Amino acid sequence: MAVLSHADTFIVDVPTIRPHVLAMATMHAQSMVIVRLTDTDGVEGVGEGTTIGGLSYGDESPESIKSAIDTYIVPVLETCDIAQVGATMAKVAKCVRGNRFAKCAVETALLDMAGKRLGIPVSELIGGGRVRESLPIAWTLASGDTARDIAEGEEMLARRRHRIFKLKIGKREVREDVAHVGAICKALGDRASVRVDVNQNWSEAQAKMGMAMLQDVGCDLVEQPIAGDDLAAMTRLSATHAIPLMADEALHGPRTALRIASASAAGVFALKIAQSGGLFATAEVAAIGTAAGIGLYGGTMLEGGVGTAASAHVFATVPDLVWGTELFGPLLQTEEILSEPLAYGDFSLAVPSGPGLGIALDEDKLAFFRRDRTQSVISAPALHAANAGA
Ligand SMILES: [Mg+2]
Repeated sequence: MAVLSHADTFIVDVPTIRPHVLAMATMHAQSMVIVRLTDTDGVEGVGEGTTIGGLSYGDESPESIKSAIDTYIVPVLETCDIAQVGATMAKVAKCVRGNRFAKCAVETALLDMAGKRLGIPVSELIGGGRVRESLPIAWTLASGDTARDIAEGEEMLARRRHRIFKLKIGKREVREDVAHVGAICKALGDRASVRVDVNQNWSEAQAKMGMAMLQDVGCDLVEQPIAGDDLAAMTRLSATHAIPLMADEALHGPRTALRIASASAAGVFALKIAQSGGLFATAEVAAIGTAAGIGLYGGTMLEGGVGTAASAHVFATVPDLVWGTELFGPLLQTEEILSEPLAYGDFSLAVPSGPGLGIALDEDKLAFFRRDRTQSVISAPALHAANAGA
């Protein structure tokens, strides 16, 4: 039996190392909602709810995630034995509809606590348990400039940090975008896998032409070329192109996964803990994908260290992860909010192995970057950048 004693939810704004250009927004900072739960025995758990580009990506914002947790989810937790994570989240689901990102943050914190109580990593509490110790990590080239993206790709290859690159396209004309992708494919050649993410910004006609052209220039995968709710068009595109279509915005947990699989609307699933509504639900999406012969990829909402560690624990339980992962969120931020940064190297991320999530927050950095900051020293240029981008 475990009883909630304290809940603290706050937004942390950390600047990005460079502008991150998406089809629907340009990010200069990442806003993460961190939830910290403590039980009456003093066991603490942390979770993260993070989206990209305010409300331009989905229907939850950092502010709405915090508000849903504080106002509606924490009162439910107060009535539960929070050692029983599945039962607690089932009760939360009955009281709060939707709000998948907020639920994911809370479930993550509960699993962190459960793992600490049991002395085992969160990955051992999911599905069949952990099957790998490290994950391949893609990098997103999204400066918007071809020469700069090629230089960044070369640098990542030389440092042995990434050899999978995702390009964010969909903002410019299709031909212009394909020329940009083709130049990068040509420059990096067989040394890298190049994929694109259109973030739903094409019409079906544009996608028809774009996917054929992308295949010709050596691109390996096209992520969410058209609206995620147009399954019929996704099915037509998947049926008529050899280059796989990856479902991302179309995926909102197990039910949509089953619908996409039944409609043969995608060849690859982007697994995301927040999009799925939690770590358990992500494992269910993975199971549906595997049963349907759909390739799996570990996606990110550009979470910081907490959400990235949580994602890594789930992805470490997926037997077949043929498309790798993109858990590079912390590397895009100027500061990691963990006391010990996640371990990146040799094109991979090491899955934390300590109890729970296997991570600890850096209190000084939190005090500095949290939006309702309690630290009074305000002098660093990073803070001005954070304010400008928030
Ligand atoms: Mg995407």
